Amino acid sequence: MYMEKIDTIIIGGGLSGIYAAFLLAAKKKSFVLLEARSRVGGRILSPEHQGFFADLGPSWYWPMINPKIKTLVQTMGLKGYPQFETGQGRFQARDGHVETIEGYPMEPPGWRLNGGMISLVKGLCARIPKDVIRLNHPVCEIQRIDNGVRVIVGRHDQEPKCRLKASKIILALPPRLAAGSILFTPDLSHNLTQAMLKSSTWMAGQAKFFALYDKADWRKIGLSGQGFSLCGPLGEIHDGSSESNRLYGLTGFVGIPALRRKNKETMIQAILAQLTILYGQEAGQPVRIYYHDWAREEFTATEYDQRAAHNHPEFLPPSGKTSIWDDTFHFAGTETADHLGGYLEGALSSAERAVLAAI
Ligand SMILES: Cc1cc2nc3c(=O)[nH]c(=O)nc-3n(C[C@H](O)[C@H](O)[C@H](O)COP(=O)(O)OP(=O)(O)OC[C@H]3O[C@@H](n4cnc5c(N)ncnc54)[C@H](O)[C@@H]3O)c2cc1C
Repeated sequence: MYMEKIDTIIIGGGLSGIYAAFLLAAKKKSFVLLEARSRVGGRILSPEHQGFFADLGPSWYWPMINPKIKTLVQTMGLKGYPQFETGQGRFQARDGHVETIEGYPMEPPGWRLNGGMISLVKGLCARIPKDVIRLNHPVCEIQRIDNGVRVIVGRHDQEPKCRLKASKIILALPPRLAAGSILFTPDLSHNLTQAMLKSSTWMAGQAKFFALYDKADWRKIGLSGQGFSLCGPLGEIHDGSSESNRLYGLTGFVGIPALRRKNKETMIQAILAQLTILYGQEAGQPVRIYYHDWAREEFTATEYDQRAAHNHPEFLPPSGKTSIWDDTFHFAGTETADHLGGYLEGALSSAERAVLAAI
């Protein structure tokens, strides 16, 4: 096992960590980014089918209240388009009875991104040096040492994969996940650990589906694709079609709490049956269907996230400090944002704050 010395280590390659990397690269700082998964993006996940990217994590940004995302979209040369909402919605009561209702327009208007949300991450990655991102590098320990921090990569039940030494770290993952999966030496204070554990990880308890079609038959009968159900398995449904109209989609959230959700195949069969009831025979026969249960993801959710959180995360560290250990350790990640914590916008603002504190 070797020991490397680096100026800054970013832990976590979700939007926040990747944006922090982009900001450090723009300032010509030396750094590496350690990502536990075999991919970057974290809660952003957009598998591709015939040039269309199905968002299984975030799908919307709100240009009217998300100035940083809006600017980033423009800077990266990406293009957004408003959520399709023309037509009526469907409502399914607890007893399964279905009604057609007036739709609820999103307020402020939500926009989707051509190329899926992953295009934000791809755009940022294209602007940082290739060799700084290390995938399959789960951090299991962080130690305060003289003049900096030591980071140990690996699994708790295995020999460490490597150790790295740095002047400072930016921890860009949900605080609750960090408190539950990383060992800190010296111990973090009781109050800070509690603040980390109590800060719920936004949407970590959710499961999302995305069904793709060649045609949008629901639109032909005056439906917008918007649907709400009290009996499930889906609780909320939206039209997720591409702007170019080459592929159409229905997408949304499972309404069943994580602990009561069945395995993937059983869930998909139940979702297809519900789509048939709500939108007709064709809706039950997509060309492709994706289902992703975030509550089962080791590098997103903890056991505290198995009940869906309805309040936006609030990270309340002692004295409001998001930098500790004599300013060698800086928190980033959307949950630590002062404003719009939990959202993509918060991922960017928390990264900006951490980078400013670290340089
Ligand atoms: C289903 C769903 C729908 C959503 N919808 C929206 C939406 O429409 N609009 C919106 O604004 N937001 C939405 N969100 C929230 C949005 O996804 C998050 O705000 C954003 O992606 C968080 O980015 P992040 O970098 O802070 O955290 P994450 O994306 O969670 O990134 C953390 C990274 O750290 C890595 N990691 C974890 N543990 C370790 C470790 N020990 N060592 C190294 N790396 C580690 C993870 O693999 C991950 O890549 C949604 C989220 C979900 C799940």
